[in-house]
Amino acid sequence: MSGAVKTIGIPSIDELLNEGLFREIEAAAGRQAAVRIARESAEEFRAGAAGRSNGLSRRDAAAAIIETAERLFRKEQLSGIRRVINASGVVIHTNLGRSPLSAEVAKGVIERASRYCTLEYDCLAGGRGRRGARAEALICELTGAESAAIVNNCAAAAFLVLRVLAKGKEVIISRGELVEIGGDFRIPDVLAESGAELREVGTTNRTKLSDYAKAVSERTGLILRVHPSNFRIVGFHESPSAQALAELARDNSIPFFEDAGSGALVGLSHLGLADEQVISESIDAGVDIVSFSGDKLLGGLQAGFIVGRTDLVDRVRRHPLYRALRVDKFSYAAIEETLDIYRRGGQFDEIPTLTMLSADAEAIRARAEGLIGEIRVRVPDEVTFEIVHGNSAIGGGAGAAVAVPTYLIAIVTAIPPDELEGRLRGQQLPVIARIVDGRVVIDLRTVFEDEAGMLADALTSALNG
Ligand SMILES: *Cc1c(COP(=O)(O)O)cnc(C)c1O
Repeated sequence: MSGAVKTIGIPSIDELLNEGLFREIEAAAGRQAAVRIARESAEEFRAGAAGRSNGLSRRDAAAAIIETAERLFRKEQLSGIRRVINASGVVIHTNLGRSPLSAEVAKGVIERASRYCTLEYDCLAGGRGRRGARAEALICELTGAESAAIVNNCAAAAFLVLRVLAKGKEVIISRGELVEIGGDFRIPDVLAESGAELREVGTTNRTKLSDYAKAVSERTGLILRVHPSNFRIVGFHESPSAQALAELARDNSIPFFEDAGSGALVGLSHLGLADEQVISESIDAGVDIVSFSGDKLLGGLQAGFIVGRTDLVDRVRRHPLYRALRVDKFSYAAIEETLDIYRRGGQFDEIPTLTMLSADAEAIRARAEGLIGEIRVRVPDEVTFEIVHGNSAIGGGAGAAVAVPTYLIAIVTAIPPDELEGRLRGQQLPVIARIVDGRVVIDLRTVFEDEAGMLADALTSALNG
Protein backbone atom coordinates (compact mmCIF):
# COMPACT_ATOMS: atom_id res chain seq x y z
CA MET A 1 0.00 0.00 0.00
CA SER A 2 2.76 2.46 0.84
CA GLY A 3 4.33 1.67 -2.57
CA ALA A 4 1.15 2.68 -4.36
CA VAL A 5 1.05 5.89 -2.35
CA LYS A 6 4.56 6.88 -3.41
CA THR A 7 3.92 6.37 -7.14
CA ILE A 8 1.22 9.01 -7.21
CA GLY A 9 3.10 11.20 -4.77
CA ILE A 10 0.76 11.86 -1.88
CA PRO A 11 2.30 14.40 0.49
CA SER A 12 2.97 13.19 4.02
CA ILE A 13 0.80 14.31 6.91
CA ASP A 14 3.67 16.43 8.22
CA GLU A 15 3.99 18.15 4.88
CA LEU A 16 0.26 18.77 4.75
CA LEU A 17 0.27 20.26 8.24
CA ASN A 18 2.64 22.95 6.98
CA GLU A 19 0.15 24.09 4.36
CA GLY A 20 -1.73 27.31 5.07
CA LEU A 21 -5.15 25.70 5.41
CA PHE A 22 -3.97 23.13 7.94
CA ARG A 23 -2.26 25.87 9.94
CA GLU A 24 -5.57 27.66 10.02
CA ILE A 25 -7.36 24.52 11.13
CA GLU A 26 -4.77 23.95 13.82
CA ALA A 27 -5.12 27.52 15.08
CA ALA A 28 -8.91 27.23 15.19
CA ALA A 29 -9.42 23.67 16.34
CA GLY A 30 -6.11 22.34 17.64
CA ARG A 31 -3.38 20.03 16.39
CA GLN A 32 -5.36 16.83 16.89
CA ALA A 33 -8.23 18.04 14.70
CA ALA A 34 -5.79 19.23 12.02
CA VAL A 35 -4.06 15.84 11.96
CA ARG A 36 -7.39 14.00 11.83
CA ILE A 37 -8.70 16.11 8.95
CA ALA A 38 -5.37 15.75 7.08
CA ARG A 39 -5.56 11.98 7.47
CA GLU A 40 -9.19 11.78 6.40
CA SER A 41 -8.60 14.00 3.38
CA ALA A 42 -5.50 12.07 2.32
CA GLU A 43 -7.40 8.82 2.80
CA GLU A 44 -10.25 10.08 0.64
CA PHE A 45 -7.78 11.14 -2.04
CA ARG A 46 -6.01 7.79 -1.89
CA ALA A 47 -9.29 5.91 -2.24
CA GLY A 48 -10.18 8.01 -5.27
CA ALA A 49 -6.69 7.74 -6.73
CA ALA A 50 -6.69 3.95 -6.54
CA GLY A 51 -8.94 3.74 -9.55
CA ARG A 52 -6.92 6.26 -11.54
CA SER A 53 -4.48 4.83 -14.10
CA ASN A 54 -2.03 7.70 -14.42
CA GLY A 55 -0.81 9.32 -11.23
CA LEU A 56 -1.15 13.00 -10.36
CA SER A 57 1.79 15.18 -9.54
CA ARG A 58 2.54 15.71 -5.89
CA ARG A 59 1.36 19.29 -6.16
CA ASP A 60 -1.98 18.30 -7.75
CA ALA A 61 -2.44 15.71 -5.03
CA ALA A 62 -1.80 18.32 -2.33
CA ALA A 63 -4.29 20.70 -3.95
CA ALA A 64 -6.96 18.00 -4.12
CA ILE A 65 -6.37 16.99 -0.51
CA ILE A 66 -6.56 20.59 0.64
CA GLU A 67 -9.84 21.04 -1.20
CA THR A 68 -11.27 18.01 0.57
CA ALA A 69 -9.95 19.22 3.92
CA GLU A 70 -11.54 22.59 3.40
CA ARG A 71 -14.89 20.93 2.77
CA LEU A 72 -14.55 18.63 5.81
CA PHE A 73 -13.54 21.47 8.10
CA ARG A 74 -16.35 23.70 6.87
CA LYS A 75 -18.85 20.91 7.43
CA GLU A 76 -17.53 20.42 10.94
CA GLN A 77 -17.75 24.13 11.66
CA LEU A 78 -21.35 24.21 10.46
CA SER A 79 -22.36 21.34 12.72
CA GLY A 80 -23.40 21.99 16.29
CA ILE A 81 -25.78 24.67 17.46
CA ARG A 82 -26.28 27.58 15.07
CA ARG A 83 -28.92 30.21 14.89
CA VAL A 84 -31.55 29.68 12.17
CA ILE A 85 -34.57 31.58 10.91
CA ASN A 86 -37.68 29.46 11.41
CA ALA A 87 -39.89 30.16 8.41
CA SER A 88 -41.73 26.85 8.78
CA GLY A 89 -44.68 28.22 10.74
CA VAL A 90 -44.29 25.47 13.35
CA VAL A 91 -44.15 27.53 16.52
CA ILE A 92 -42.94 24.97 19.09
CA HIS A 93 -40.54 23.24 16.70
CA THR A 94 -38.77 20.52 18.68
CA ASN A 95 -35.96 20.16 16.11
CA LEU A 96 -35.36 23.91 16.20
CA GLY A 97 -35.20 24.18 19.98
CA ARG A 98 -38.90 24.50 20.83
CA SER A 99 -39.67 27.88 22.42
CA PRO A 100 -37.38 30.78 21.49
CA LEU A 101 -36.49 33.28 24.21
CA SER A 102 -37.07 36.98 23.75
CA ALA A 103 -34.00 39.20 23.44
CA GLU A 104 -34.83 40.73 26.83
CA VAL A 105 -35.06 37.39 28.61
CA ALA A 106 -31.86 36.16 26.95
CA LYS A 107 -30.05 39.36 27.97
CA GLY A 108 -31.32 39.07 31.52
CA VAL A 109 -30.15 35.47 31.77
CA ILE A 110 -26.63 36.26 30.57
CA GLU A 111 -26.37 39.30 32.80
CA ARG A 112 -27.56 37.55 35.92
CA ALA A 113 -26.13 34.09 35.58
CA SER A 114 -23.06 33.99 33.37
CA ARG A 115 -20.60 35.15 36.02
CA TYR A 116 -20.88 34.49 39.75
CA CYS A 117 -24.46 34.68 40.93
CA THR A 118 -26.71 33.95 43.88
CA LEU A 119 -27.54 30.40 42.77
CA GLU A 120 -27.34 29.11 46.35
CA TYR A 121 -26.53 32.28 48.18
CA ASP A 122 -28.63 34.79 50.08
CA CYS A 123 -27.08 38.28 49.95
CA LEU A 124 -29.40 39.67 52.62
CA ALA A 125 -28.62 36.97 55.14
CA GLY A 126 -25.00 36.64 54.04
CA GLY A 127 -25.10 32.88 53.82
CA ARG A 128 -26.32 29.89 52.00
CA GLY A 129 -29.63 30.14 50.18
CA ARG A 130 -31.76 27.43 48.65
CA ARG A 131 -31.25 26.80 44.93
CA GLY A 132 -34.36 27.49 42.91
CA ALA A 133 -36.34 29.00 45.79
CA ARG A 134 -37.53 32.05 43.85
CA ALA A 135 -38.39 30.14 40.65
CA GLU A 136 -40.38 27.68 42.76
CA ALA A 137 -42.18 30.46 44.61
CA LEU A 138 -43.13 32.08 41.30
CA ILE A 139 -44.54 28.90 39.77
CA CYS A 140 -46.51 28.27 42.98
CA GLU A 141 -47.96 31.76 42.79
CA LEU A 142 -48.95 31.28 39.15
CA THR A 143 -50.49 27.83 39.57
CA GLY A 144 -51.88 28.03 43.09
CA ALA A 145 -49.81 24.99 44.07
CA GLU A 146 -48.40 24.62 47.60
CA SER A 147 -44.92 23.54 46.53
CA ALA A 148 -42.78 23.07 43.44
CA ALA A 149 -39.60 21.41 42.26
CA ILE A 150 -37.91 21.92 38.90
CA VAL A 151 -35.91 19.34 36.95
CA ASN A 152 -34.32 19.00 33.54
CA ASN A 153 -37.46 18.36 31.47
CA CYS A 154 -40.98 17.01 31.76
CA ALA A 155 -39.87 13.46 30.98
CA ALA A 156 -37.55 13.64 34.00
CA ALA A 157 -40.34 15.18 36.09
CA ALA A 158 -42.83 12.43 35.26
CA PHE A 159 -40.27 9.70 35.74
CA LEU A 160 -39.15 11.11 39.08
CA VAL A 161 -42.69 11.41 40.43
CA LEU A 162 -43.51 7.83 39.43
CA ARG A 163 -40.25 6.55 40.83
CA VAL A 164 -40.61 8.32 44.17
CA LEU A 165 -44.32 7.84 44.73
CA ALA A 166 -45.11 4.56 43.03
CA LYS A 167 -42.07 2.31 42.87
CA GLY A 168 -43.11 -1.26 43.62
CA LYS A 169 -46.77 -0.29 43.51
CA GLU A 170 -49.52 -0.18 40.92
CA VAL A 171 -50.28 2.90 38.87
CA ILE A 172 -53.83 3.09 37.61
CA ILE A 173 -54.12 4.62 34.14
CA SER A 174 -56.74 4.64 31.40
CA ARG A 175 -56.02 2.57 28.28
CA GLY A 176 -56.72 5.74 26.30
CA GLU A 177 -53.68 7.40 27.84
CA LEU A 178 -50.99 4.81 27.24
CA VAL A 179 -49.44 7.09 24.68
CA GLU A 180 -46.11 7.79 23.08
CA ILE A 181 -45.30 11.47 23.47
CA GLY A 182 -42.57 11.39 20.87
CA GLY A 183 -39.13 9.94 20.53
CA ASP A 184 -38.55 7.44 23.27
CA PHE A 185 -41.06 8.73 25.77
CA ARG A 186 -43.73 6.03 25.95
CA ILE A 187 -45.85 6.01 29.07
CA PRO A 188 -45.79 2.20 29.59
CA ASP A 189 -41.99 2.15 29.25
CA VAL A 190 -41.51 5.08 31.61
CA LEU A 191 -43.72 3.36 34.15
CA ALA A 192 -41.82 0.09 33.86
CA GLU A 193 -38.48 1.89 34.14
CA SER A 194 -39.62 3.71 37.29
CA GLY A 195 -40.32 0.40 38.99
CA ALA A 196 -44.06 1.00 39.07
CA GLU A 197 -46.53 -1.52 37.78
CA LEU A 198 -49.03 -0.61 35.12
CA ARG A 199 -52.66 -1.21 36.03
CA GLU A 200 -54.58 -0.28 32.89
CA VAL A 201 -58.30 0.31 33.06
CA GLY A 202 -61.15 1.05 30.67
CA THR A 203 -60.82 1.03 26.92
CA THR A 204 -59.03 3.15 24.33
CA ASN A 205 -61.98 5.48 23.84
CA ARG A 206 -64.02 5.15 27.04
CA THR A 207 -62.93 4.90 30.63
CA LYS A 208 -65.37 5.51 33.48
CA LEU A 209 -64.84 6.51 37.06
CA SER A 210 -66.06 3.04 38.11
CA ASP A 211 -63.24 1.47 36.05
CA TYR A 212 -60.72 3.37 38.16
CA ALA A 213 -62.63 2.65 41.40
CA LYS A 214 -62.66 -1.09 40.76
CA ALA A 215 -58.90 -1.14 40.23
CA VAL A 216 -58.04 0.55 43.55
CA SER A 217 -56.45 -1.87 46.02
CA GLU A 218 -53.79 -2.16 48.72
CA ARG A 219 -51.25 -2.25 45.94
CA THR A 220 -52.21 1.07 44.37
CA GLY A 221 -49.40 3.66 44.44
CA LEU A 222 -51.17 6.39 42.54
CA ILE A 223 -53.74 7.30 39.94
CA LEU A 224 -52.17 8.75 36.82
CA ARG A 225 -53.69 10.94 34.18
CA VAL A 226 -51.64 11.76 31.08
CA HIS A 227 -52.43 14.55 28.69
CA PRO A 228 -52.59 12.80 25.31
CA SER A 229 -50.74 15.81 23.81
CA ASN A 230 -50.01 14.83 20.27
CA PHE A 231 -53.17 13.00 19.31
CA ARG A 232 -56.92 13.23 19.75
CA ILE A 233 -59.70 10.77 20.14
CA VAL A 234 -62.77 12.11 18.39
CA GLY A 235 -66.27 10.70 18.40
CA PHE A 236 -67.53 8.25 21.03
CA HIS A 237 -65.29 9.13 23.91
CA GLU A 238 -65.49 9.42 27.69
CA SER A 239 -63.18 9.95 30.62
CA PRO A 240 -63.96 11.11 34.17
CA SER A 241 -63.31 14.70 35.19
CA ALA A 242 -60.25 15.66 37.18
CA GLN A 243 -62.55 16.49 40.12
CA ALA A 244 -64.09 13.03 40.12
CA LEU A 245 -60.70 11.33 39.97
CA ALA A 246 -59.33 13.62 42.68
CA GLU A 247 -62.22 12.68 44.95
CA LEU A 248 -61.71 8.98 44.34
CA ALA A 249 -58.00 9.34 45.09
CA ARG A 250 -58.68 11.33 48.27
CA ASP A 251 -61.27 8.85 49.53
CA ASN A 252 -58.71 6.09 49.17
CA SER A 253 -55.73 8.13 50.43
CA ILE A 254 -53.76 7.67 47.25
CA PRO A 255 -52.11 10.51 45.35
CA PHE A 256 -53.51 11.65 42.02
CA PHE A 257 -50.79 12.61 39.56
CA GLU A 258 -51.33 14.38 36.25
CA ASP A 259 -48.67 14.59 33.55
CA ALA A 260 -49.99 17.70 31.84
CA GLY A 261 -47.21 17.95 29.28
CA SER A 262 -47.60 21.31 27.60
CA GLY A 263 -47.91 23.49 30.65
CA ALA A 264 -50.41 26.22 29.81
CA LEU A 265 -50.26 28.72 32.66
CA VAL A 266 -53.13 30.82 31.31
CA GLY A 267 -56.24 30.01 29.27
CA LEU A 268 -55.48 29.66 25.58
CA SER A 269 -58.95 28.95 24.24
CA HIS A 270 -58.81 32.13 22.12
CA LEU A 271 -55.97 30.39 20.24
CA GLY A 272 -58.15 27.36 19.58
CA LEU A 273 -56.58 25.53 22.51
CA ALA A 274 -59.70 25.03 24.61
CA ASP A 275 -58.61 21.45 25.39
CA GLU A 276 -55.39 22.58 26.95
CA GLN A 277 -55.87 22.21 30.69
CA VAL A 278 -54.49 25.21 32.58
CA ILE A 279 -52.24 24.05 35.42
CA SER A 280 -54.05 26.13 38.05
CA GLU A 281 -57.31 24.41 37.03
CA SER A 282 -55.75 21.02 37.68
CA ILE A 283 -54.62 22.19 41.11
CA ASP A 284 -58.07 23.67 41.80
CA ALA A 285 -59.69 20.42 40.75
CA GLY A 286 -57.74 18.65 43.46
CA VAL A 287 -54.94 17.00 41.49
CA ASP A 288 -52.22 16.29 44.07
CA ILE A 289 -49.18 16.60 41.86
CA VAL A 290 -48.75 17.85 38.28
CA SER A 291 -45.81 17.75 35.87
CA PHE A 292 -45.33 19.91 32.76
CA SER A 293 -42.70 21.21 30.35
CA GLY A 294 -41.00 24.58 30.51
CA ASP A 295 -40.47 25.03 26.78
CA LYS A 296 -43.78 24.10 25.21
CA LEU A 297 -46.82 26.36 25.68
CA LEU A 298 -45.22 27.95 28.73
CA GLY A 299 -42.72 29.48 26.30
CA GLY A 300 -39.54 29.30 28.37
CA LEU A 301 -36.44 27.18 28.60
CA GLN A 302 -36.26 23.38 28.66
CA ALA A 303 -37.32 22.33 32.13
CA GLY A 304 -39.73 20.02 33.91
CA PHE A 305 -41.98 21.47 36.58
CA ILE A 306 -43.41 19.40 39.41
CA VAL A 307 -46.06 21.25 41.40
CA GLY A 308 -48.51 20.16 44.06
CA ARG A 309 -48.89 19.08 47.66
CA THR A 310 -45.95 19.94 49.91
CA ASP A 311 -45.59 16.48 51.45
CA LEU A 312 -45.36 14.87 48.00
CA VAL A 313 -43.07 17.48 46.44
CA ASP A 314 -40.79 17.24 49.48
CA ARG A 315 -40.48 13.50 48.99
CA VAL A 316 -39.52 14.10 45.35
CA ARG A 317 -36.96 16.71 46.31
CA ARG A 318 -35.35 14.50 48.94
CA HIS A 319 -34.79 11.63 46.48
CA PRO A 320 -31.17 11.24 45.23
CA LEU A 321 -32.41 11.27 41.64
CA TYR A 322 -33.66 14.83 42.10
CA ARG A 323 -30.04 15.89 42.63
CA ALA A 324 -29.13 14.12 39.38
CA LEU A 325 -31.92 15.76 37.41
CA ARG A 326 -31.79 19.29 38.80
CA VAL A 327 -31.32 22.35 36.56
CA ASP A 328 -28.50 24.86 36.35
CA LYS A 329 -28.18 28.58 37.06
CA PHE A 330 -29.04 29.60 33.48
CA SER A 331 -32.26 27.63 33.63
CA TYR A 332 -33.30 29.14 36.94
CA ALA A 333 -32.50 32.64 35.65
CA ALA A 334 -34.54 32.03 32.47
CA ILE A 335 -37.42 30.52 34.42
CA GLU A 336 -37.50 33.52 36.77
CA GLU A 337 -37.40 35.97 33.84
CA THR A 338 -40.19 34.11 32.03
CA LEU A 339 -42.43 33.67 35.06
CA ASP A 340 -41.99 37.34 35.99
CA ILE A 341 -43.56 38.18 32.63
CA TYR A 342 -46.62 36.05 33.45
CA ARG A 343 -46.85 37.63 36.86
CA ARG A 344 -47.22 41.08 35.37
CA GLY A 345 -49.64 39.77 32.72
CA GLY A 346 -47.32 40.42 29.78
CA GLN A 347 -47.25 36.90 28.35
CA PHE A 348 -49.05 37.60 25.07
CA ASP A 349 -46.78 40.57 24.32
CA GLU A 350 -43.44 39.40 25.64
CA ILE A 351 -43.23 35.61 25.35
CA PRO A 352 -42.37 34.82 21.72
CA THR A 353 -44.20 31.47 21.64
CA LEU A 354 -47.45 33.10 22.77
CA THR A 355 -46.94 36.25 20.71
CA MET A 356 -46.42 34.15 17.58
CA LEU A 357 -49.40 31.92 18.32
CA SER A 358 -51.63 34.95 18.86
CA ALA A 359 -50.49 36.83 15.75
CA ASP A 360 -53.41 37.69 13.53
CA ALA A 361 -53.37 36.23 9.99
CA GLU A 362 -54.02 39.67 8.48
CA ALA A 363 -50.98 41.10 10.26
CA ILE A 364 -48.92 38.24 8.85
CA ARG A 365 -50.29 39.02 5.41
CA ALA A 366 -49.22 42.64 5.73
CA ARG A 367 -45.72 41.60 6.74
CA ALA A 368 -45.62 39.20 3.78
CA GLU A 369 -46.52 42.03 1.40
CA GLY A 370 -43.77 44.18 2.87
CA LEU A 371 -41.19 41.46 2.43
CA ILE A 372 -42.21 40.74 -1.15
CA GLY A 373 -42.05 44.47 -1.94
CA GLU A 374 -38.53 44.55 -0.66
CA ILE A 375 -37.13 41.52 -2.46
CA ARG A 376 -39.05 41.58 -5.74
CA VAL A 377 -36.49 43.89 -7.36
CA ARG A 378 -33.57 41.90 -6.02
CA VAL A 379 -34.41 38.52 -7.56
CA PRO A 380 -34.36 37.28 -11.19
CA ASP A 381 -37.38 38.21 -13.33
CA GLU A 382 -38.54 34.63 -13.64
CA VAL A 383 -39.24 34.52 -9.88
CA THR A 384 -42.64 35.65 -8.60
CA PHE A 385 -44.30 35.52 -5.23
CA GLU A 386 -47.86 34.66 -4.32
CA ILE A 387 -49.57 35.14 -1.00
CA VAL A 388 -51.74 32.11 -0.27
CA HIS A 389 -53.92 30.87 2.58
CA GLY A 390 -52.35 28.19 4.72
CA ASN A 391 -51.94 26.88 8.23
CA SER A 392 -49.25 27.32 10.82
CA ALA A 393 -48.83 24.59 13.44
CA ILE A 394 -48.52 24.83 17.19
CA GLY A 395 -46.06 21.94 17.43
CA GLY A 396 -44.56 20.45 20.56
CA GLY A 397 -47.42 18.00 20.82
CA ALA A 398 -49.91 20.73 21.70
CA GLY A 399 -53.20 21.20 19.91
CA ALA A 400 -52.70 18.23 17.61
CA ALA A 401 -55.86 18.96 15.68
CA VAL A 402 -55.71 22.76 15.81
CA ALA A 403 -55.17 24.59 12.55
CA VAL A 404 -53.80 28.10 12.95
CA PRO A 405 -54.77 30.09 9.84
CA THR A 406 -51.97 32.07 8.27
CA TYR A 407 -50.81 33.54 4.98
CA LEU A 408 -47.84 31.99 3.26
CA ILE A 409 -45.46 33.44 0.72
CA ALA A 410 -45.27 30.86 -2.07
CA ILE A 411 -42.18 31.20 -4.23
CA VAL A 412 -42.93 30.59 -7.90
CA THR A 413 -39.74 29.77 -9.78
CA ALA A 414 -38.17 27.32 -12.20
CA ILE A 415 -35.77 26.26 -9.45
CA PRO A 416 -36.98 22.83 -8.24
CA PRO A 417 -38.51 23.13 -4.73
CA ASP A 418 -36.13 20.79 -2.93
CA GLU A 419 -33.19 22.56 -4.54
CA LEU A 420 -34.46 25.94 -3.35
CA GLU A 421 -35.37 24.62 0.10
CA GLY A 422 -31.81 23.24 0.35
CA ARG A 423 -30.27 26.52 -0.77
CA LEU A 424 -32.21 28.35 1.94
CA ARG A 425 -30.93 25.88 4.53
CA GLY A 426 -27.40 26.36 3.17
CA GLN A 427 -27.30 30.11 3.81
CA GLN A 428 -24.91 31.66 6.29
CA LEU A 429 -27.97 32.21 8.47
CA PRO A 430 -30.02 29.15 7.47
CA VAL A 431 -33.70 29.61 6.67
CA ILE A 432 -35.94 26.64 7.42
CA ALA A 433 -38.86 26.67 4.99
CA ARG A 434 -41.57 24.20 4.00
CA ILE A 435 -42.67 22.77 0.67
CA VAL A 436 -46.43 22.89 0.12
CA ASP A 437 -48.04 21.72 -3.15
CA GLY A 438 -44.70 21.62 -4.89
CA ARG A 439 -43.65 25.14 -3.93
CA VAL A 440 -41.35 26.49 -1.25
CA VAL A 441 -43.40 28.54 1.20
CA ILE A 442 -42.41 31.02 3.88
CA ASP A 443 -44.62 31.45 6.96
CA LEU A 444 -43.76 34.71 8.72
CA ARG A 445 -45.64 33.66 11.88
CA THR A 446 -42.45 32.15 13.27
CA VAL A 447 -40.06 34.78 11.91
CA PHE A 448 -39.22 37.52 14.43
CA GLU A 449 -39.98 41.01 13.12
CA ASP A 450 -36.35 42.01 13.53
CA GLU A 451 -35.30 39.11 11.29
CA ALA A 452 -37.08 40.48 8.22
CA GLY A 453 -33.94 42.04 6.74
CA MET A 454 -31.89 38.91 7.28
CA LEU A 455 -34.63 36.78 5.74
CA ALA A 456 -34.79 39.11 2.74
CA ASP A 457 -31.02 38.77 2.25
CA ALA A 458 -31.16 34.99 2.53
CA LEU A 459 -34.03 34.73 0.05
CA THR A 460 -32.26 37.07 -2.37
CA SER A 461 -29.07 35.09 -2.18
CA ALA A 462 -30.81 31.70 -2.55
CA LEU A 463 -32.88 32.85 -5.52
CA ASN A 464 -29.87 34.35 -7.26
CA GLY A 465 -27.64 31.40 -6.36
C1 LIG B 1 -43.99 16.75 26.01
C2 LIG B 1 -44.50 15.86 27.05
C3 LIG B 1 -43.61 15.19 27.89
C4 LIG B 1 -42.13 15.32 27.74
O1 LIG B 1 -41.73 16.62 28.01
P1 LIG B 1 -40.20 17.08 27.81
O2 LIG B 1 -40.15 18.42 28.42
O3 LIG B 1 -39.97 17.05 26.34
O4 LIG B 1 -39.35 16.09 28.49
C5 LIG B 1 -44.13 14.38 28.86
N1 LIG B 1 -45.46 14.21 29.00
C6 LIG B 1 -46.35 14.85 28.21
C7 LIG B 1 -47.82 14.63 28.43
C8 LIG B 1 -45.90 15.71 27.21
O5 LIG B 1 -46.76 16.36 26.42
